[in-house]
Amino acid sequence: MSDPQPQFTSTELKEWQQRLEEADRHNILCHCRACDHEWVASKPEPCVCGSKSVEHIACWQFPDG
Ligand SMILES: [Zn+2]
Repeated sequence: MSDPQPQFTSTELKEWQQRLEEADRHNILCHCRACDHEWVASKPEPCVCGSKSVEHIACWQFPDG
């Protein structure tokens, strides 16, 4: 039952939600665990840094609030 979700400040949450709104148009929010790069894509894809350790979060999977 462990939950690896990072903890956000309220400001970071707002930024995150804005990115999610953007991601909603592209379907998937990608977050690279290697270099911390974030971007949105229409399908899961590796990071530009070459790492495949990428988190793919479909907007509809992200919990509200
Ligand atoms: Zn990366």
